[in-house]
Amino acid sequence: MDFIKKMDTAASETVKTNNSGEAKEKVKCLILGSGPAGYTAAIYAARANLNPVMYEGMQIGGQLTTTTEVENYPGYPEGVTGPVMMEDFKKQAQRFGTDTRWGMATSVDFSKRPFKVVIDEETTIEAESVIIATGATAKYIGLESEKAFMGYGVSACATCDGFFYKGMDVAVVGGGDTALEEALYLSGICRKVYLIHRRDELRGSKIMQDRLLAKENIEVMWNNVPKEVVGSKTVEGVILENTKTGEEKRIDVAGFFVAIGHKPNSDIFADYLDTDEVGYINTIANTSRTNVPGVFACGDVMDNMYRQAVTAAGSGCKAAIDTERWLGEEGLI
Ligand code: NAP
Repeated sequence: MDFIKKMDTAASETVKTNNSGEAKEKVKCLILGSGPAGYTAAIYAARANLNPVMYEGMQIGGQLTTTTEVENYPGYPEGVTGPVMMEDFKKQAQRFGTDTRWGMATSVDFSKRPFKVVIDEETTIEAESVIIATGATAKYIGLESEKAFMGYGVSACATCDGFFYKGMDVAVVGGGDTALEEALYLSGICRKVYLIHRRDELRGSKIMQDRLLAKENIEVMWNNVPKEVVGSKTVEGVILENTKTGEEKRIDVAGFFVAIGHKPNSDIFADYLDTDEVGYINTIANTSRTNVPGVFACGDVMDNMYRQAVTAAGSGCKAAIDTERWLGEEGLI
């Protein structure tokens, strides 16, 4: 549409620095990460004329690109694959002028403004504001077979993929609250859920343990670790090894859910931003503001509770609105 073409899409200006003489780029709104949170922040920031520049990170589109069908994102009545949905998000962000780029932030200096963000250890960007949407990475066991069946029976998100296993038998690995929550969720959909835990004691909260142990269709495989995921095109079973006896046993399952924790991708911000003990960035009250004014966080890097595409998108929207307001308050727009 014409009005879009007429928008000023010059996302940044290149300025000369005095000390080294090297050219540095200065941007008004820098977005790091390209999952639902990052792209939604970009859509809102671009439409607010903040000329956002986005560095998409290692995994363009984020965690959703490792899933197959997404059926719980509103607006896709027939479902959509994770990669296609993220491509749609990206196109929408670009349509309003977001400058999306390959590259990953490797270090930052948030000690003074403009903030400095180094991309791929070589390019320094100066930014008036930064929206962090770098997401979290699900931890996996590290088995070759687990990798091979990723998206074909292996998943790290029961809420996303559980429905595909309606009436079937599945396994969940882990003994923390995430694993207990995923097993309980799946027990309402699946015929039987095996919870595979490496010890004889669960780590999750007492109330969740009680709920889990009361479920008739959940069987805890105490003192067991998965040794191999087996199947042909999709998962058909898991070989378990008993950590006490070394005995091996196969269970027949169509789904293998890994729930051994997530790692928020926040290491490079650790010197400047307040996080919880795991590394999730703390935001102020019901906003995306961090402890550094001008730096905002959204999506899974600050949310260990919901971790859904739709909640990440919502928080990306909040981050862009918070950024626009802050830039306004500071007289930067
Ligand atoms: P977590 O508490 O760190 O638990 C990870 C679990 O995975 C542990 O039981 C651990 O076994 C097991 N594990 C780790 N590496 C493994 C491996 N290589 N092979 C097999 N098992 C392995 O992680 P989380 O459950 O994701 O929870 C993270 C935080 O979020 C916790 O503070 C939790 O309370 C919170 N959370 C809260 C809720 C809620 O309140 N509704 C929901 C989800 C998460 P060990 O026990 O032997 O170490």
